[in-house]
Amino acid sequence: MPRLVPIIIATVFLGAAILRETRAETVRFKDSKQNEREVKGEVLVEAQNGGMMLRGDDSRIWLIQPNEIIQRKRDDAPVTPASAEVVSARLLEELGPTFSIYPTQHYLIAYDCGEPYVQRVGALFEQLHRSFFTFWKNQRWELDEPDYPLVAIVLRDHDSFMNYAGNDIGETANSVIGYYHLSSNRMTTFNVPNWERNVATIIHEATHQLAYNTGMQKRFADNPMWVSEGLATFFESPDMRNPGRWRSIGRVNQVNLARWRRYVRSRPEESLATLIADDQRFRSAATATTAYAESWALTYFLIKTRRDEYVDYLRELSEGKPLAERTRPERIEMFERVMGDSLIDLDKAFMTYMRRVN
Ligand SMILES: [Zn+2]
Repeated sequence: MPRLVPIIIATVFLGAAILRETRAETVRFKDSKQNEREVKGEVLVEAQNGGMMLRGDDSRIWLIQPNEIIQRKRDDAPVTPASAEVVSARLLEELGPTFSIYPTQHYLIAYDCGEPYVQRVGALFEQLHRSFFTFWKNQRWELDEPDYPLVAIVLRDHDSFMNYAGNDIGETANSVIGYYHLSSNRMTTFNVPNWERNVATIIHEATHQLAYNTGMQKRFADNPMWVSEGLATFFESPDMRNPGRWRSIGRVNQVNLARWRRYVRSRPEESLATLIADDQRFRSAATATTAYAESWALTYFLIKTRRDEYVDYLRELSEGKPLAERTRPERIEMFERVMGDSLIDLDKAFMTYMRRVN
């Protein structure tokens, strides 16, 4: 099962933030490992204390404390996205001589896992990419092609994954086989012994990456977790007759359907409200499994029965500004407004619809 990957809580980091028009700057700063870096990018958010959120020309987002900034230089020209060659060179420099780059049409995969495995992963990513764009086009949503290559890192075994991922996500690395990281914008996984069993997880994480790079979701904006996880679980459903070859999108996710059915027996009346209003249910291990299941079920229900409203809802979310979180009442109000129905009536329709899904 895909697990939670803790996200750096940028609000804690930046405190009261000033939102402003993005502008190009070159910033020299010390990163969290005290290495000096120079990043050309756009300042997305600037805090009153001088800290900033900077998106580099390769789409990595840096959260920089005021005391880490060495020099800032304003650029007159807009930021030019880094080319595949530039990003590849940076990856190799960062990861070291045991790594190679496997480029596909839309991805740059840095790997030390051997060529046959990286080819498999690359083919899966491209397949998802195609299906993802086609699926949303069919829902009358033309997504943006990212103007920089999407980066993935595929490590040779669990030990090297732990080594790398520990830095990114800490203890969580123990219980996952892959993750998407919101700041670095990278998807990371390793040569897993049982490919078939893990295809769904790889797809799940790669879906997060795609959603955040095609204009569908905006990193560090208000992204209710049920939306992000609902999308990822909607896309991950493996084709059971063909488990090695993930193909179709939007099948019933049997794992989550079974969990949903167990949950329904004791589902509280205010379940929809708690799912939407904040992300609390995802934060504790005791409630996360049913929160994922309900996110999948709600996403499935909305796509099948209220497609246009659901797409409008995603669009409105995608227009949010970084670090501008909605309050609990604001999240509920927005959901009801865009869906054109009260939570109570939506919940009735939701429960009725889900009884027929199998
Ligand atoms: Zn997820």
